[in-house]
Amino acid sequence: MPAKLLDGRIMAEEVEQKLKARVTALQGKGITPGLAVILVGDDPASQTYVHNKENSCARLGIFSRTFRLPSGISQDELHSAIRAANADVSIHGVLVQLPLPRHLSEKRALELILPQKDVDGFHDINAGRLMRGQEGIVACTPKGALYMLTNTGITIAGKEAVIVGRSNIVGKPMAMLLLRENATVTVCHSQTVHLAEHTRRADILVAAIGKPKLITASMVKEGAVVIDVGINRVDGKLCGDVDFEAVSEKASFITPVPGGVGKMTVAMLMDSTVTAAETAG
Ligand code: NDP
Repeated sequence: MPAKLLDGRIMAEEVEQKLKARVTALQGKGITPGLAVILVGDDPASQTYVHNKENSCARLGIFSRTFRLPSGISQDELHSAIRAANADVSIHGVLVQLPLPRHLSEKRALELILPQKDVDGFHDINAGRLMRGQEGIVACTPKGALYMLTNTGITIAGKEAVIVGRSNIVGKPMAMLLLRENATVTVCHSQTVHLAEHTRRADILVAAIGKPKLITASMVKEGAVVIDVGINRVDGKLCGDVDFEAVSEKASFITPVPGGVGKMTVAMLMDSTVTAAETAG
């Protein structure tokens, strides 16, 4: 039987509806949640992502301010923009759109964001809190992927979860979240030997690789839940890291690309911004 779709469009819409009520409640207290996005250069994909974030803010009544900075700016100039956003009391969330031009240090920029305004969850303090199992701001993409699982009522505790990819923004925080939910977690990467032997054990398989259709049907266990984080462009069309058509025939649940985890990422960014405003209250 074909897999059921974990539909990011529908779930993101549900999240937005709940957020609207929280934004209204904040406005009742004289608070408008605010998000600052710092965009350096004119990378087309980054422009699109920032545009999507601005649109989401507008839909939800969140104030948004975008710092559009030329690609040739210095690290100090970038830091000035981050400091300005940190200091602005109308701003509750600050994010630096990645990737930055190569001459700029992402690490130094991200560490300058106040941890309580770090709505991307990339600051060492927030990443550390997640690792320690403490409350903190969680990176939006893994947070969205986890939401898709829990919101669908998929049991995580006791399950074998296999994550392919170990980046700081997706793979590692995803592993920490699933561990926190009491899954038994395996993290695979480019040096993993016999990848398919690991993926075939997964009750929950998360692909965060950036290689189109690397996960084929033969690598997936019958009835597995498959979360495809990958966003790849092949012949002008978007596709994930999973061979969607073939894997759909084996999986119990699967996320599409587009319309899956990507939709949830922006919704979770909005959620983290509203939460930051509530906390700052
Ligand atoms: P990175 O390039 O930072 O990490 C990719 C990971 O995949 C690395 O850990 C790498 O291993 C591993 N990998 C690469 N090739 C293989 C292979 N052949 N076998 C096993 N593992 C492999 O990417 P990101 O984590 O930033 O992003 C992953 C994907 O998710 C991309 O397609 C990206 O566009 C997408 N993405 C989607 C988002 C969304 O909102 N849906 C948000 C963020 C990312 P190693 O560490 O050894 O190099």
